Amino acid sequence: MINCRSRQPAPRCPSCRRVSSRIHSRYRRRIADLPWQGRPVLLSVHVRRLRCINRRCAQRIFAERAEEIVGSHARRTARLRDIQRSVGLVLGGEAGSRLIERLSMPISADTMLRVIRAGRQVGSVAPRVLGVDDWAWRKGQRYGTVLVDLETNDVVDLLPDRESATLAAWLKSNPGAQIIARDRAGSYAKGAREGAPSARQVADRWHMLRNCSDAVLAAVEKRYRLVREVGRSLANDVASPPSPERPAAIGKSRTALERQRQGRARRRKMFDEVVALRDKGWSISAIAHETGRDRKTIHQWLRDKRPGTWERASRHPANAFEAYLRSRWHEGCRNATQLYREVCARGYHGEVRGFRRWIRTRLRDGQPQLVAGSGERPRWKSPSSRQAVRLLTVPSDALGTDDARFVGAMRAASPAIAEAADLARRFHDMLVGRKANELDQWLAQALGSAIASFARGLRRDIDAVRAALALPWSTGPVEGKINKLKLIKRSMYGRAGIDLLRARIMA
Ligand SMILES: [Zn+2]
Repeated sequence: MINCRSRQPAPRCPSCRRVSSRIHSRYRRRIADLPWQGRPVLLSVHVRRLRCINRRCAQRIFAERAEEIVGSHARRTARLRDIQRSVGLVLGGEAGSRLIERLSMPISADTMLRVIRAGRQVGSVAPRVLGVDDWAWRKGQRYGTVLVDLETNDVVDLLPDRESATLAAWLKSNPGAQIIARDRAGSYAKGAREGAPSARQVADRWHMLRNCSDAVLAAVEKRYRLVREVGRSLANDVASPPSPERPAAIGKSRTALERQRQGRARRRKMFDEVVALRDKGWSISAIAHETGRDRKTIHQWLRDKRPGTWERASRHPANAFEAYLRSRWHEGCRNATQLYREVCARGYHGEVRGFRRWIRTRLRDGQPQLVAGSGERPRWKSPSSRQAVRLLTVPSDALGTDDARFVGAMRAASPAIAEAADLARRFHDMLVGRKANELDQWLAQALGSAIASFARGLRRDIDAVRAALALPWSTGPVEGKINKLKLIKRSMYGRAGIDLLRARIMA
């Protein structure tokens, strides 16, 4: 316990700011502070009560304060409160209280929760542009609502459910939203209408695109037998003729393969440069300095006579057998288990799993020229309905040869799917390009197509859809906040009550 008193000679009245030295009385105030030498500290402060000398001031008597150190009625200093609050935000009430006691800043779990809650400041005015979206408190069971200021990207509040009444009540008690971007139709539309009737509602582009893609998926799934038939006939067809280019594997986008290829080409170029410098007689250090690569890397490249990849950066025990394995590979033995048996017989000691990976990266993927030379290529597989939707709706120049053939065959086999895919593509372009004038024509066609129910949903919410085509706001930033929310929620192992979670995400 530390006994102390204020050194200010004449405190100011908190109401009229006049200084006064007329002492009325004194009392002691106990305030918890940061620990000292591992012990909890209690300040016992000698506080003066003073009379205000301003006759017109309503405040007759006031106690001296030190607002920057401790709040007027607080029982802990601001710096102690901040630490307790930080621990509480990370660990929650119970665990937080256990740790903080060990750190000699004891506080009960309940008080800690109170400190956390008191820390959050919810403005009573809604942001001008409000994004509303739901988030899964527990997937499929319980959902909450997250409100985001779309101009600053800050979380404004969390609501415990996604009922229209809850949103309406919030909007009434926090007026001021002029634009509300929300999921298509449903309870948020109703809540926004009731809570902020003058605000302009904007259907969210991200949700509309997802719903559109789901509508195409439903249409494809209805005809899945067709997808399978087309896929199978192509898969049998496709395996034989070797194409000069490696076809894009299903599930791995062309861009990913492209990036991979570029990375390889870049490393290759760098390697050639390294070799050229070495041939000129440069030292490894000088080459490393020139190319900006690590000396070890340069050394390894020169020793291996090839540029490395991430996988090859390690010194794998199979490297010692590389020459042998390479010759076996050339002879046509592609069976990793067989090769493993053979190297083991020659004294290899590594595990089979790592060996398989080595074979995969070093011989199979790492050397596309070998694969192409042997006439072997990854087999094209019949896509799932979701993959089929993706293939049908991406721009055709983004497709590999086989995928393009699949899309062509699908479109020929089912005009309904072809139309749905075209509509989805146009819908995407319309939203991204804000082509509001195309909406009516699009709707007219879509209402008679395989995605008619999606179109009917848009028609029911037409004002908000038009606003989405005219205004820049989207709940995209809300999605980011939801990811953060999930992360925090998980890190709390279900200890999170809604108010604790709210405090944490807003902190
Ligand atoms: Zn006063």
